[in-house]
Amino acid sequence: MRIYKVGGAVRDRLLGKPVTDIDWVVVGATTEEMLAKGFRPVGADFPVFLHPKSGEEYALARTERKSGRGYGGFTFHASPEVTLEEDLIRRDLTINAMAEDDQQNLTDPYHGQRDLEARLLRHVSPAFAEDPLRVLRVARFAARYATLGFTVAPETLALMHQLSESGELEALTPERSWKEISRALLEDQPQVFVEVLRACGALKVLMPEVDALFGIPQPPAHHPEIDTGAHTLSVLQQAALHKQPLTVRWACLLHDLGKGLTPEDEWPRHIAHEFKGLKLIKAVNERFKVPRDCQELALLVGEYHTHGHRALELKPSTLLELLQSFDIYRRPQRFEEFITACEMDARGRKGLEERSYPQADYLRGAATAARSVAVQPLLEKGFKGPELGEEIKRERLKALKAYKEATSV
Ligand code: ATP
Ligand code: MG
Repeated sequence: MRIYKVGGAVRDRLLGKPVTDIDWVVVGATTEEMLAKGFRPVGADFPVFLHPKSGEEYALARTERKSGRGYGGFTFHASPEVTLEEDLIRRDLTINAMAEDDQQNLTDPYHGQRDLEARLLRHVSPAFAEDPLRVLRVARFAARYATLGFTVAPETLALMHQLSESGELEALTPERSWKEISRALLEDQPQVFVEVLRACGALKVLMPEVDALFGIPQPPAHHPEIDTGAHTLSVLQQAALHKQPLTVRWACLLHDLGKGLTPEDEWPRHIAHEFKGLKLIKAVNERFKVPRDCQELALLVGEYHTHGHRALELKPSTLLELLQSFDIYRRPQRFEEFITACEMDARGRKGLEERSYPQADYLRGAATAARSVAVQPLLEKGFKGPELGEEIKRERLKALKAYKEATSV
């Protein structure tokens, strides 16, 4: 049997990037031989194994054929006769379809190295169109390598367009889609992921609520970039620049969905978009079975981001309601993420990226003031049950009034 490194490990070594996980392909072997060498099978009927020591993935060389809709609709054929070239041709991009032996001799039948130099994400063969997940993968690689100057080859974008129009994207499971979306959002240039999806018509299918934001104007005085889609991309870009976690990035992407529902005769104003957007945020959250922490933050940021921007003008009672809505006493981290999402929203405006955002520290201070109310003295005074709750709220309100007075000089 012959063993080669493939995929990301080869690509990233040639790019001079750190290689984190290594995928291997094994040519000329049978399942029985792999098992005899101590490899552990990954799935019951898939020719992929884990190395007994390193735990890395070793796949038998295989060919694939489309046999139905979606991911389940694949039949594959693995046998010792399948050649390295035959295995490489089933892969998505030429830069992912190179193999390397233990002497670092490159096998590159589909010119991945040439495309690496040309900074092109190009499909290997027309079979690309057999798996709609590849649309998301290419957009994700575009986001990852945008900084290096990579773009999607026009003929690949055309295939992605066809796939988006074929209805195949709808066959993706929420889990597979979310895995790509979440990884893409964590890349350096997540806004490129959204741009590429939009350019090939996939955004309209996957997240029509986000796609709808392009072409919708906002008031130029607050939003010099005017377009709501452009603003959303900038907010996402700011979140990446500031190394924000997935929760914040997801909330940034969805925070203004309500603006897509504003009747045209109200443009460029978007009255109550925060509230109107909630049902759209909920729909996107459910579509991809998004993890709970991301879901929650997106809904809260959607509903309250304008409160965040107006923090310094809020009445103490409104401030208290905001803090209560976030349950800052038990969930301090979530409120901190809300504050940063608001800050990213403010920075995601053309020409205002560097403007200071005093609201952030003001909100942090307000949270500290509300938390400073101690419960023990109230218990000692004999409060209990609902009355205790009311008294705590009264004390917190007092603390917020004092905080507002102390900071408004
Ligand atoms: P990463 O750095 O994100 O791990 P990778 O290129 O190694 O990038 P993997 O998802 O680990 O990506 O897949 C390993 C290889 O398997 C890819 O380089 C590609 O050749 C192939 N591959 C994975 N998923 C697909 C797919 N859906 N269609 C075609 N080829 C795929
Ligand atoms: Mg990999």
